[in-house]
Amino acid sequence: MNLDPRSFQDIHAATPDMDALSASYTQLLASMGQAQDAGALRELLGTWSTMRRAFSTWSALVSLRYSQDTTHEGHKEAQAQADVLRPEFTLLEASVKRALLAHPARAALEADLGPQAFELWGADERVVSAQTQALLVRENTLSSSYTKLLASVRVEFDGEARNLSTLRPFLTAAGRQTRHDAYHALGGWMGEHAEQLDTLYTELVEIRDQMATTLGYSDYVAMGYDRRRRVGDGQRDVEVWRKEVLEHIVPFARELRAQQAEELEVERLMAWDREVHGLQGNPTPKGGVDWMIARATEMFDEIDTQEMGPLFRLLSERGYLDLETRPGKSGGGFCTAFATQNMPYVFANFNGTKHDAEVFTHEIGHAFQYWKAADKELMDYTWPTLESAEIHSMSLEFLTWPHMEKFFGEDAERFRRIHLIESLTFLPYGVAVDHFQHLVYENPDATPAERLEMWREMERTYMPGLDWGDIGYGAQGRRWQLQGHIYGVPFYYIDYTLAQAVALQFWVMNTKDSEHAIQVYKDLCARGGSAPFQELVDSAGLVSPLRGGFLGEVVAQARVALGL
Ligand code: ZN
Repeated sequence: MNLDPRSFQDIHAATPDMDALSASYTQLLASMGQAQDAGALRELLGTWSTMRRAFSTWSALVSLRYSQDTTHEGHKEAQAQADVLRPEFTLLEASVKRALLAHPARAALEADLGPQAFELWGADERVVSAQTQALLVRENTLSSSYTKLLASVRVEFDGEARNLSTLRPFLTAAGRQTRHDAYHALGGWMGEHAEQLDTLYTELVEIRDQMATTLGYSDYVAMGYDRRRRVGDGQRDVEVWRKEVLEHIVPFARELRAQQAEELEVERLMAWDREVHGLQGNPTPKGGVDWMIARATEMFDEIDTQEMGPLFRLLSERGYLDLETRPGKSGGGFCTAFATQNMPYVFANFNGTKHDAEVFTHEIGHAFQYWKAADKELMDYTWPTLESAEIHSMSLEFLTWPHMEKFFGEDAERFRRIHLIESLTFLPYGVAVDHFQHLVYENPDATPAERLEMWREMERTYMPGLDWGDIGYGAQGRRWQLQGHIYGVPFYYIDYTLAQAVALQFWVMNTKDSEHAIQVYKDLCARGGSAPFQELVDSAGLVSPLRGGFLGEVVAQARVALGL
């Protein structure tokens, strides 16, 4: 844990000189070839780590700056350059991983480092080849175009031009007519850009399918799993999980929706009603960005004076938070990190909704986990694969429950109730997003219209009763086009659902013994990515959702908590 990082503004990283870097990798490979035993090999891992950390910091800085202002010429150029250099770097990385996988001293090294790194490198190595370089560059470019397109959303509403973040309060407004009109306004933009959104995705699917074929995969699904480094579980496991959600959550979600309709006093719950709970609207934080930071500082000090409190102070005092929304800033929230500093960074777009509080409880979970595990010998063991990484973020959302009065005052109980309801109703949506992508990549020649039908099929299966009314883009089956993961990181989305299933177990644990739950959480964070998902979950004494058979119990607990 870095207790004294330099200020964010003092982090600089020169654009890598790829010729020089390539020469360094060649030299490293030669030294590895000469290494006689695991000890000698392990020393070389230090050299490798320094090079990886430097590249990673540069790459993260470029991405972050681009996200902070997608209209800035210099940042755009740097991002375009990174889109080209990252695939080149990935090739260099693969050469080292290949050498380690095939090294005569591998078994001894594996005994020292654990098998997980070798599993991960195996997956990495299978998806990287000089033959697919041009496709990777094209994929990065298209993915950046999508980000830029969504950052460019301008919808005239209530007398002002709004982006997706500033339109959100209207999409979830207490007034039914307002939120319907906001959906309509967004639908106007979606309609104007439908062809562009279709074309971008069609090209991404083609490119990914071509990559998979080139590398000898039967389709992109299998390659996508390898690219997500999903070692230790596969498509069959995900199918088990889908069935669990269908069996236990889909019917329960229908009950929750019926109750929501009653609370909203509407005869039929429409698409624009689904994110609002109660006639008074959703609770909102009682102050702006600085006020929120002050409350979060108190909260983390109260939860854990040893580590969480100090980390949050470092983040806020040394410039590692960017929370306000601005024109040109890319949407959403994320946690990134600078590996040369062992420091995480949190990016968000505050808009005055309850979502702002979730930035502190979700993204700070990622930040804390990174910080706890940043100094691991192998970078591969710092961030876990993402189904595990989202455990840390989504569980902290539940572990911070007792402190929500700070942000929401007398509305805190309502906030907790809504959080629990949304955590459960999220599962079918999350599984639908993932299932949809399986259909897409299993049928790469489908037309855009056929893909819209696939999505409608997903909505009918996992979200029965979802009624888009006169909102054209929704009725056409275009809801998924606002879900960036589908464009940028295929097969990521299921990770949120798997992690949510674990986070719900932390919810149960926290209601019984909060101190114990925090300790189990911190220990899990410190383990980083040194083991695959199921093993990490086991190590915390929790049940893996991929094994099935525990959702019924979560639903039973939720029934009690929600008074159903
Ligand atoms: Zn997350």
